[in-house]
Amino acid sequence: MRDNYFLQKRLVQIWTEFFPDVPKLNEVSIIFKGKAKWKFGHIESQGKNTRIVLNRLFRSQIVPQYIIDLTIAHELVHYAHGFHSPLPKKYKYPHQGGIVKKELNKRGFKELQKLEHKWFKTEWTHLYDVLR
Ligand SMILES: [Zn+2]
Repeated sequence: MRDNYFLQKRLVQIWTEFFPDVPKLNEVSIIFKGKAKWKFGHIESQGKNTRIVLNRLFRSQIVPQYIIDLTIAHELVHYAHGFHSPLPKKYKYPHQGGIVKKELNKRGFKELQKLEHKWFKTEWTHLYDVLR
């Protein structure tokens, strides 16, 4: 089973590799929590700090690591756009006009997004029932 320490390491790695231009201006923690079917993760404020939350079912090794990586990258895009982060807010709404997808494409996640879409359609519904 993956743990929160695993998530912290992935967060540092993805931030360093794919978001080197995004300054880290506060404490950013990351944990597994919740078992929503339609939500892989979210980002929230905790006072002055930020917390990224990933679906608890992703602790299982059956879930490919790229799903976790992509979810972390998705939340980092929100951080970069100023949602639940001290950075200036670039847009009015976090998912306005496909901005997250576009930003992820720009940062090199185009192929992974396609894989995720496919995985979501073919594997996740079944896996969800097995894992929950
Ligand atoms: Zn989002």
